[in-house]
Amino acid sequence: MRMQNNVVLVTGAGQGIGRAIASRLASEGAYIIINDLYENDNTRETLREVQGAGSNGCIIAGDVSDTVICRDIIAEGFSWAGGIDVLVNNAGIERNAEFLDVTEKDFDAVMNVNLKGAFFMTQAFAQHFRNTKRKGRIINISSVHEELPFPHFTSYCISKGGMKMMMRNLSIELAPLGITINNVAPGAIETPINKSLLNNPQQLAELTHNIPAGRLGKPLDVANAVLWLASDEADYVTGSTVYIDGGLLWNYQEQ
Ligand code: NAP
Repeated sequence: MRMQNNVVLVTGAGQGIGRAIASRLASEGAYIIINDLYENDNTRETLREVQGAGSNGCIIAGDVSDTVICRDIIAEGFSWAGGIDVLVNNAGIERNAEFLDVTEKDFDAVMNVNLKGAFFMTQAFAQHFRNTKRKGRIINISSVHEELPFPHFTSYCISKGGMKMMMRNLSIELAPLGITINNVAPGAIETPINKSLLNNPQQLAELTHNIPAGRLGKPLDVANAVLWLASDEADYVTGSTVYIDGGLLWNYQEQ
């Protein structure tokens, strides 16, 4: 059991990659704090999967784009579970629009969830390590688009590029507190965020053609990398991005 006696908070864990991270780490003994916008059927299903994987957890709902709520989620997690060892900043959204048409509302929505949310969740988490001798782990679910342009998704790319520099900076600032921080950068993964792509056979075939591994990724592919970074095996890893993309990053061509 690689995560025994660890408490892990996963944001956006009501479905997709976040849910897979929650169940995979639970299968290795972690207690999971499930965050998503609301306590609903999705988060309750994640909790059932966590319990089915042989561990336990709780749901702390809240919008990570609100800084006050970020602090409340972390404070409630620390008091409810007696501490949090691992923070997984997974909640993320995207908005598709040509640059000339992007609205301020959509730009703010993407930046506030993907970047500001991860920033202030991380700050609130790290503040608890000021006077402790515990080890902490932060894992951001970034994207190949922290590196790779994606036309019509400029605000998304900015948010993930910002997450890359946040992670690199904090690997230096948080090391004295005993905290490591790394990014996991998925390529194209089969989750609800890609619903329209998955329902478009032609677009799907073109994308799959660009992936050297010849398939989209599964949420579990991402969760396995998170597990490794959260485990003792990754004690000396900080400031890195692990790409989980079947080789997409170095072979991508926009159609
Ligand atoms: P998803 O299926 O859409 O799941 C995202 C979850 O985050 C949803 O449950 C969503 O809740 C929740 N969420 C949204 N805004 C939130 C907020 N303000 N506070 C708390 N929770 C919030 O997406 P996914 O594919 O699993 O993506 C997870 C992460 O991986 C994202 O950061 C995404 O950018 C990244 N990623 C995904 C892919 C991919 O191909 N799937 C590739 C690269 C990177 P609602 O459903 O209620 O909105």
